[in-house]
Amino acid sequence: MNRPERFRPPSVDEILRSGEGALAIARHGRAETTQAVRQVLERMRQSGTSPSVSADAVARMALDLLEARERPSQRPVINLTGTVLHTNLGRALLAEEAIQAVVTAMRAPTNLEYEIKAGQRGERDAHVRDLIRELTGAEDAVLVNNNAAAVLLVLNTFAKDREAIVSRGELIEIGGAFRMPDIMARAGAILREVGTTNRTHLRDYAEAIGAETGLLLKVHTSNYVVQGFTAEVEPPELAKLARTHGVPFVDDLGSGTLIDFARWGLRHEKTVQDALKGGADLVTFSGDKLLGGPQAGIVAGRKDLIAKLAKNPLKRALRLDKLRLAALEATLRLYRDPDRLAERLPTLRLFTRKAAELHALAEKLRPALAATLGAGWSVETVDCASQIGSGALPLETLPSTGLAIKPVGKASGGAVEALAAAFRTVPVPVIGRIAQGTLIFDLRCLEDEALFAAQLATLKPGGGDGLA
Ligand SMILES: *Cc1c(COP(=O)(O)O)cnc(C)c1O
Repeated sequence: MNRPERFRPPSVDEILRSGEGALAIARHGRAETTQAVRQVLERMRQSGTSPSVSADAVARMALDLLEARERPSQRPVINLTGTVLHTNLGRALLAEEAIQAVVTAMRAPTNLEYEIKAGQRGERDAHVRDLIRELTGAEDAVLVNNNAAAVLLVLNTFAKDREAIVSRGELIEIGGAFRMPDIMARAGAILREVGTTNRTHLRDYAEAIGAETGLLLKVHTSNYVVQGFTAEVEPPELAKLARTHGVPFVDDLGSGTLIDFARWGLRHEKTVQDALKGGADLVTFSGDKLLGGPQAGIVAGRKDLIAKLAKNPLKRALRLDKLRLAALEATLRLYRDPDRLAERLPTLRLFTRKAAELHALAEKLRPALAATLGAGWSVETVDCASQIGSGALPLETLPSTGLAIKPVGKASGGAVEALAAAFRTVPVPVIGRIAQGTLIFDLRCLEDEALFAAQLATLKPGGGDGLA
């Protein structure tokens, strides 16, 4: 009579009536809880473990299952990658003013497309148009979903079934499958490449321009630099050429900043104002890169051209919703007071954090980190270089400080990767980067050190014999 004991669980009803069961029902409802309890029982039956189990224990497992399922798919992480505008981590963090504006717009009807004084239909882009005009000197502006959409709309409006002239040195691909030639094709524009990868001259453009030309496009090489034996044509010359042929000259800035970054000791990045002064009829740029706002695409420039963009049916498909318009408006307002911008705009605040401040932070966090990891690891404070990210100032790095974590002695294969993975499984995942067998936590974007410390307490070894 050695038959294994049969699995004899409490009844579903009993489990639901247990203390933990009642808690689960209070939090998740009876239907969900019942389903989770059945799931847990089924798993226990299949795995064949513990023949007897209490109602409370099953209910607790069901509750764990329900809680795990409730966890949002998109959730906060701690960005210690050293890339401030990390596209995979959601780019710019919004200013408090922008967050408040979004919350307000979410809770109530707004005058999104309504003119309150006149009591008649209005235009959604009007809420930020005047701010863009004021800040950039542009005649007019139109807003869309992101800069990829801005470029698409411009190409489709002015170069559908016509040629868009671009230098071969500027046929960019940026992350997330934005490739200039593909966007051209989708917009119905015919790509007319001119010049070579490293050198393009005015005569190259002049020979290509003609009756078939829809527009002349300059693209900011936002994630690479062509160096060495190079030549490109300055915008004013392109603007002049375009004007003589009566076609728009478009400058795709990509990142698009409204203020000279040299003010904060960073390298000067061409501003939207610079591009307009350089003769661009239209300038396209992103809302969530250097601008530090929500995802958005902005086209600023000549009034007559903007009016054509606004009339393109694609604009309707690419338009911004009220939440992002609210966030963008609030973000742009901050630019009226450049003196306080670095305090109020999180991206700029992060760019301008001083190496000394970061060094002090590293020294403060190091003992706790070392203690958590134990003798198998060394934790050192190191100099490192942060990146701006998102294709802004591609070669510019910011001197920063990080914590470098390395296994002591003979490193077992994959130990560093396993540690990095363990840091990603804590409640608020900590994301660093691995370089030369070392896990580096660049502290530039760590503003909540208490949160980081709290995550250390929950760090679990990747299994086996501890973290070492
Ligand atoms: C980033 C970028 C884009 C795309 O902008 P999104 O806002 O990411 O859609 C287009 N052109 C250039 C030059 C860029 O740098």
